[in-house]
Amino acid sequence: MAWGGFGGGGGMFGGRSSSTGLPFGGIPSELMPEATKLLASEPAHEPSAITFTQRPSAKESERLTLPRLLKVYPGYVVAGSFLVIVISLIMQVGPLLTAYAINDGMKARSSLAIVAVCAILYLGSALVGALLQRTQVNVTGILSSRVMHDLRIRVFTHFQRLSLDFFTDEKAGVLMSRMTSDIENLQQLIQDGISSFALQGLTMIVITVVLFSLNVTLAAWTILLIVPLLFGFSIWFHHASEKGYLLVRDRIANVLADLSESLYGIRVVTAHNRQRRNIRNHRHVVGAYRDANLYTGRVNAIYGPATIMIGILGQGLLLGIGGHMYLEHQLSLGYLAAFFLYLNRFFSPIQLLVQQYNSLQQGRASVIRLRELLQTPPTVDEVENAATLPTIQGRITFEHVSFGYKPDRLVLHDVNLEIAPGESVAFVGPTGAGKSTMAKLANRFYDPTEGRVLLDGIDIRSVTLRSLRSQLGVVPQEAFLFAGSIRTNLSFGRTNITDEEIEEAIDVVGLRELIDRLPRGLDTIVHERGQTLAAGERQLLALARAFLARPRVLILDEATSSLDLRSETVIERALDRLLEGRSAILIAHRLTTAQRADRIVVVDKGGIIEMGTPGELLANGGAYTRMYDAWLASGGRDVTHIER
Ligand code: ATP
Repeated sequence: MAWGGFGGGGGMFGGRSSSTGLPFGGIPSELMPEATKLLASEPAHEPSAITFTQRPSAKESERLTLPRLLKVYPGYVVAGSFLVIVISLIMQVGPLLTAYAINDGMKARSSLAIVAVCAILYLGSALVGALLQRTQVNVTGILSSRVMHDLRIRVFTHFQRLSLDFFTDEKAGVLMSRMTSDIENLQQLIQDGISSFALQGLTMIVITVVLFSLNVTLAAWTILLIVPLLFGFSIWFHHASEKGYLLVRDRIANVLADLSESLYGIRVVTAHNRQRRNIRNHRHVVGAYRDANLYTGRVNAIYGPATIMIGILGQGLLLGIGGHMYLEHQLSLGYLAAFFLYLNRFFSPIQLLVQQYNSLQQGRASVIRLRELLQTPPTVDEVENAATLPTIQGRITFEHVSFGYKPDRLVLHDVNLEIAPGESVAFVGPTGAGKSTMAKLANRFYDPTEGRVLLDGIDIRSVTLRSLRSQLGVVPQEAFLFAGSIRTNLSFGRTNITDEEIEEAIDVVGLRELIDRLPRGLDTIVHERGQTLAAGERQLLALARAFLARPRVLILDEATSSLDLRSETVIERALDRLLEGRSAILIAHRLTTAQRADRIVVVDKGGIIEMGTPGELLANGGAYTRMYDAWLASGGRDVTHIER
């Protein structure tokens, strides 16, 4: 059972892979001047002080809403709103100037000066409007970038708090889509959506007021006939498109999840000839996504043209009624022209509102999903005012521990075990027996369903997770290396590790030969997940990492058969040094490791069926002896079952 949350397909064929590229060999000398120039122009980012606590602060646990996100930057919100109001007023001056120019300048052929002034003012208002719009786009751009920065950090911090089961249950791709498409939708909403929505809405209000002030009767005819029609239609659209966008969001998350799983697992997929089945699967999720898009497309296709039709209806109405009023001398020609111009301007915001409505809907759906995510509590949480675990001797106690990943299916049944300080205990047993699960409970990756796990007599649920894990060293079966140098990978467990300590660790675990072989020694960059290193080398690096963290208790999920005999000997020597003076739980797949432990615990079907020193167990001829015999007979391969 791998320990990591995000699956572990990558390590299956752990050897060097040309597809993952060569280790980074440094910047070539001919590119150096350009690179230096680039680096000099990079803004310096001061490292920010991080305060991470397992329990979120009151502010961090606030319900996520758009106003709450925005209120952190009141200056930008006020400036943005003010600009939107001014722009919506200034941009509507044009038709009024046109009316004035027709009525007072052109009609009586009286004044060229009036026409010229109106034209200049018209141009001026358009220019000022455009400049203000540029400022407004800048302001909302800065606002949205800052808000999104905060939100990204908040979601990421929340991920750091969540427990392992969350990452096992949720597909990595779905989580990635929260961080990418959902946050981007929200960014779009703040950057363009809200301001544009407000601008178009205000424009409609300004035009309505101006139309009524020009001529009440004509304004009433135009607006009152058209607005209710549009309004009713928009309500239908609201419901239909909300349903569509939630569907689209769900289905794109599925597409991304399927995609990321297929890419992560590409080696397994290829090895098992699963391409065809994978394509069928992907076609299915992509097809579902297409259907959701088609649905929203159909809804938009009805709404867009229908609003255009309503606009044309309005123009016809205006021509008939307005023309009649002009002939009856109830309306000037200039005002009629202004009415036509305003009517056009009245309908284009509606078209834009439809588009913005979509981004508003998408943004709203994203807020809902991000809120749900942020409200998911970690299942393994700290109690309020959790104490700091004092430096421990290393006594580990399982007291009547039962556990199930799902409450209705227990995988451990009433386990009782005590490991003395400094004692190494090997867990052996068939695959799926519950060995890794017991180790995960000791590390508090999960909490027991019943019973307690104690360290030096202290219930591990009563102490802070940080103080607990700083005294536990975990070496998972799939050693995970991060993209970066070997040095940074080794110093992962502690901040103040010196070069001397790193050198010592390298000698202790027997990595010297590898480091000397690498082009840049400790500063060689390993690619993500350490795919450019062999499985045994990764395992040794993980052991060195644990050695440097200097934990009081070591939990080691042993790598299985991927090691050759020589690596095995090196790792065993490394283990001996690592275990000196430490309590340890060793999930032993190779019985050579089990034989070196102080005590062996045989786990089967979620319970302990035998326990004793290797000598005792071999002497009493029970389950362990049968495993041992089978192991000898198989020539020392992993033992994954117990002969009955
Ligand atoms: P192995 O030697 O293969 O690593 P193991 O003895 O360590 O096996 P565990 O990994 O502890 O076995 O698994 C015990 C049982 O719990 C198995 O039936 C397994 O299918 C189940 N299990 C393990 N992890 C999960 C999980 N995250 N969710 C649900 N069930 C799980």
